Amino acid sequence: MAKRDYYEVLGVSRNASAEEIKKAYRRLARQYHPDANPDDKDAEAKFKEISEAYMVLSDPEKRANYDRFGHAGVNGQGFGGFEGFGGFGGFADFGGLGDIFDMFFGSGGRRRAGPERGADIRMELELTLNEAAFGLEREIKVPRVEICGTCGGSGAAAGTKPRTCPACGGTGQVQYAQSTPFGRIVQSRTCDRCRGAGQFIEKPCPTCRGTGQVRRTRSIKVKVPPGVDSGSRLRLAGEGEAGTRGGPPGDLYVYIQVKPHPVFARDGDDIICEVPVSFVQAALGDELEVPTLEGSTRLRIPEGTQTGTVFRLRGKGVPRLDGFGRGDQHVRIKVVTPTKLSEKQKALLREFARLDGESRHGFGSGGEKSFFEKMKDAFMG
Ligand SMILES: [Zn+2]
Ligand SMILES: [Zn+2]
Repeated sequence: MAKRDYYEVLGVSRNASAEEIKKAYRRLARQYHPDANPDDKDAEAKFKEISEAYMVLSDPEKRANYDRFGHAGVNGQGFGGFEGFGGFGGFADFGGLGDIFDMFFGSGGRRRAGPERGADIRMELELTLNEAAFGLEREIKVPRVEICGTCGGSGAAAGTKPRTCPACGGTGQVQYAQSTPFGRIVQSRTCDRCRGAGQFIEKPCPTCRGTGQVRRTRSIKVKVPPGVDSGSRLRLAGEGEAGTRGGPPGDLYVYIQVKPHPVFARDGDDIICEVPVSFVQAALGDELEVPTLEGSTRLRIPEGTQTGTVFRLRGKGVPRLDGFGRGDQHVRIKVVTPTKLSEKQKALLREFARLDGESRHGFGSGGEKSFFEKMKDAFMG
């Protein structure tokens, strides 16, 4: 929700005097005060808005910042969540107002906390390409906070129970009446006896020392479905940190990291590999043995296969994560030029070259133009 202009909130002009601002504030505060509007959320929100506007506009320095920079000029000084209002300068000048703020904002944050959900845990799981492709079950060790098994999370020693705080009756807050410029209002503050918890433990559980929680490392079975890749995230609901005060546990997120494979590269659901062949195999054609994710398979390359030619092995890629079908494997042929030739091999190659004659840069090209013819064309335009 966009913040409204503070002057607009108080209904004053931008050059209103301090006295006018104060008057406008008092009038509005009285109108929207929660005591005058019990259980009215709108009034409460309005009251907060008015109060916030007044906090800024009643302080010459903050007002100047606000005039120059707008909300950005005064944020980050304690408005987020209305905490630390007590530290606001210039406030004590208005007597009872400080208590009102304390009542509505300051103590609000310290009110007896309810059940709180546990935090999520993030773990990494490193897999080989094969494991990622076909899935697996793996136990991982997860250090986390759990509910204490000895006391069941109550924090109280065996045979005892946490007692409701007699000072606050379990609310964590004690109330007292105070006179203010708006009349007598009832305020509350955090209970000293239980420090806001609403209950206290006479004999703490020896296992968790009264916290109700213990840290332990738990082995958790993770089921990795086929087709995951680096960055895939698995969610194990309820396997995170335990909640507090009866709140639900957080979740465990397992992030997959796939180790590089020595031969295969992955492109989505496809597998890419490069297979070296000799120039003789490439020229005459051959049946090659090609590695796949599951053993090897045979691939026929035709006569005159060029380096860089890609053959597709349908359905030899990675199973799709959605369970429907598999990707392909792309086999890229790399023709390797021999480096250690015997005298006899060299002689045979020279003989081959002689037979191949003029068209040595375009062998096997049939009716196609040779490399030199193409170059000549390029220069002549
Ligand atoms: Zn315990
Ligand atoms: Zn108490």
